[in-house]
Formats: sequence, C-alpha cells, structure tokens
Amino acid sequence: MVYDLHTHSTFSDGTTSPAENAAFAAAVGLVGFALTDHDTMDGWAEAAQACQEHGLDFVPGVELSTEFEERGIHLLGYWVDPTHPALVTECVRLRAERDRRANAMVANLAALGIDISIDDVRAQAAGAPLGRPHLAAVMIAKGFVTDEDAAFDQYLADGGPAYEPKRALAPVDGVALIRAAGGTAVLAHPGLGSRDAPLSTVLLDQLRDAGMKGVEADHCGHDPAARNYWRAAARRRGMSVTGSSDFHGSRKESKIGDATTSVSVVEELRRRAATAVDGKG
Ligand code: AMP
Ligand code: ZN
Ligand code: FE
Ligand code: FE
Repeated sequence: MVYDLHTHSTFSDGTTSPAENAAFAAAVGLVGFALTDHDTMDGWAEAAQACQEHGLDFVPGVELSTEFEERGIHLLGYWVDPTHPALVTECVRLRAERDRRANAMVANLAALGIDISIDDVRAQAAGAPLGRPHLAAVMIAKGFVTDEDAAFDQYLADGGPAYEPKRALAPVDGVALIRAAGGTAVLAHPGLGSRDAPLSTVLLDQLRDAGMKGVEADHCGHDPAARNYWRAAARRRGMSVTGSSDFHGSRKESKIGDATTSVSVVEELRRRAATAVDGKG
C-alpha cells in the first residue's frame, strides 16, 4: 500500500508518457503515483485519465525550480490549483528562463570546444521545458561524451564549467507560492547535487517556517547514510518523510516504485494541502 511521489514524463525531461508511467505504476502494484514534471502541469490530464483506467490514485504534482546560493533547489508541490494565476505565471516565466539558460549553456559548451546547436537541444525536448538532460542527450549523440553521467560530471552539474544557474525564486518564496496555490510543499532530494557541502539545515528551518510539510529523504539517489540523515532532520522539525524514485524513463536507472511513500504519509500531506488555503496548514 504505497505511492511513488516523484516521476517525470516527456512533458519535461523523462522519456515516457504520463500514461506509460501509470501503466508501470499499476504493473508494480502501487496504490498511486505523482507526476512531477519540471515547471509544468501539462501532463496531468493524460496521467489522471490513465490512472482512472488502471484504478490508481493520481497525485497531481509539479517540481518547481528555485535557486539558493548558485544551486538549484527543487520543490515538489502536490495538489496545487493548476489555474492559480501566480503559479501559472511563474511556470511560464521559468520555461522562458530555461530557454535563455539553455542558450547560455550552449555558449559555455562552445567555449569549451563542445559544439552543439540549440536547435538540436530543442528537437530533443520536443516542446517540453528545456533542461540539462536534453543538452546531455545531444552531447552524447554528437559523440562528445559517452553517457549522461559524464556530461554532468565534466560539464553540466551545478557549479560545473558549463553550468548556468536559473534565475528563479528563493526556496522560501517557492514554498509560499505552492501554499498560495493550495498545495503541499515537499523538499525534493536534499542530498543530491551537493558538490562541496550538504544543504544547510538553516535553509531547512527557514523552509519549515515558510510552511514546507515534507522532506524526500528516501530518494533513490540518496545512499543509506543520506536517507537516515534527512529522515532524522525532517522528523526533528515535525515534517513528513517521503520516498520516491524520481523516475526519468531510460535516462536514469531508477524505476517507478524503487522508493515509495506510505498511504498514511500521503493522507497526512493531502490533509495539510487542504488546510494550506485557509492558512491553518
Ligand atoms: P535542470 O532542470 O536543467 O536544472 O536539470 C535537472 C535535471 O538534470 C534533474 O532532474 C536530473 O534529471 C538531471 N541531473 C541533475 N544533476 C545531475 C547529475 N549530477 N547527474 C545526472 N543527472 C543530473
Ligand atoms: Zn529531471
Ligand atoms: Fe529534481
Ligand atoms: Fe525530479
């Protein structure tokens, strides 16, 4: 009786359709799953329809990009109102910002002798918000690197030589936006992408004070020590602990259901979303 609360589709940088995610979720016996594409809610309709056909509970979500100290901080927003004007405006702005940033990273790569074209990156994304995995895919196709890990390790990772930060909200403002849109905010994979230092627990306190309700401690990319660390950090602050695969289709090793969240935690988060709109959450 578990959910996978973080999956991507071709509506962002995954390689499977929302309906394929639903079919996987059903095949591995989940109660339900969340579609959490980067800065877009456009895949919800397809996912909801497919969940209905498979008898799954669909958790509508978005993985909102925010930035803190030159590092991307990802916030999962569940059950947000997809028509909330400020949230829609920020997602539209972020998609344009992703375009600017992809162009900047193509220029950074060119300066490093990696010649790829923005048109090829766009073709990879096929209309989805542009992300680093799309750049990595072109770098692989052109023979500059052998796989996505190499593209990130050598060029694209946060702070890497070709990295360009997004101009994005501060994480506390992202939490406020998710709450204003009636959702529940959960901090995604706090243990990933920490090149030099782990994420600050001062930030975690600030996010909790801003109304964040959960921490994705059981993320497939966290080793057992990181999972324990973030689980304890969340519990000490009265926040729920979630688990998820962060499925990206064939782009990542993890499969839907490789890390999961219990029904009781999902219900707790759902209750807290309902109260967020009247300020009591
Ligand atoms: P972006 O939205 O452009 O900032 O890219 C974020 C996405 O890139 C994540 O969702 C992952 O799919 C991928 N990613 C980020 N960091 C790494 C890394 N170090 N290695 C492999 N993939 C990564
Ligand atoms: Zn991604
Ligand atoms: Fe993420
Ligand atoms: Fe993700």
